[in-house]
Amino acid sequence: MAGIYIHIPFCKQACHYCDFHFSTSLKYKDELLQALVKEIQLQKDYLQGETIETVYFGGGTPSLLEASEINVLVDTIARLHTVSTDAEITLEANPDDLGKTKLQALGQTPVNRLSIGIQSFFDDDLQWMNRVHRANEAEASIKRAQDTGFENITADLIYGYPLLNGQKWKYNLDKIFELDVPHVSAYSMTVEPRTALASFISKKKQPAMNDEQSADQFNLLMDVMGAKGFEHYEISNFCKPGHYSKHNSNYWRGVKYLGIGPSAHAYNGETRQWNIANNAQYIHAVQTNSLPAEMEILSETDRLNEYIMTALRTMWGLDLDKLNAIAAASANVLIKAAQPFFDKGWITQQNNSIYLTQTGKLYADHIASGLFF
Ligand code: SF4
Repeated sequence: MAGIYIHIPFCKQACHYCDFHFSTSLKYKDELLQALVKEIQLQKDYLQGETIETVYFGGGTPSLLEASEINVLVDTIARLHTVSTDAEITLEANPDDLGKTKLQALGQTPVNRLSIGIQSFFDDDLQWMNRVHRANEAEASIKRAQDTGFENITADLIYGYPLLNGQKWKYNLDKIFELDVPHVSAYSMTVEPRTALASFISKKKQPAMNDEQSADQFNLLMDVMGAKGFEHYEISNFCKPGHYSKHNSNYWRGVKYLGIGPSAHAYNGETRQWNIANNAQYIHAVQTNSLPAEMEILSETDRLNEYIMTALRTMWGLDLDKLNAIAAASANVLIKAAQPFFDKGWITQQNNSIYLTQTGKLYADHIASGLFF
């Protein structure tokens, strides 16, 4: 069982907060697509023959691809790997790309899950973020996708930025319930270095993010999602029962995955590798049959810390037996380090697993780093 991630490094314009790898010029789109096909071939042995359970088109903006281009990529994977008959195939899409014709074409591809970058249902917020789409497109894109037959939809939302008061945040969440979307990924706005947002804040053109506001909105999020029957299965992810993202859940469970495309990461249990985050250099490397990747062999400590970081954030918790399977007797060491967090009521132990409490979810990264080896 394994997954494949394909990075599509193009966007119509740069959102002010974004530090993902993308280009706003589509000049090299054809060459890049040919390179993606070739990289799938070059990397065909990385997953050691595991069956592919998930394919995830992320970016950038994968909805800039034509349906025919998606088909070429999925067909290439299917030619070189065994793909499960019920594989989850997700496409990240921006609302402005999801017109009726495009959705109908996507409906003819193997894509069976759409991850729609909604972020907000308010125009002033979307403009502040420098998103391309507007609020009416956000709502209409979800309805159109459902009308076209896409039921497995997730919406991305952002909270914790200055324009978003509690009332607006509640409106955004209510809109999601009204639209009957079964999965939501909600992220607190973070100010990444070298983004337009970081520059605006350092020049005092924008206020900094407010941690208290973000915590209040995260608490509201957890409360209303719980009240509507959504499971909080990972810090930033909520779904109706059974609607987990298979692809992301597999990341958090340590399942192997291959990353294709510039800046994509891969993991096979023993090594981690990451591709160069530059479209021209990526294309050149692949054209000359060289892998555009750097690789590191994961030490025992790397594997322990990786497991702590990912498992603790999920509702399945941190399994002490799995920790001991990575390094003998490591669970005892962790339990000692965890005592201050037990005392604060931020984590709890049931059977042989450790879980974040609702308060602990506010400090997930801090707790994980306190438990690192
Ligand atoms: S559309 Fe997505 S990847 Fe592109 S700039 Fe905006 S947030 Fe970043």
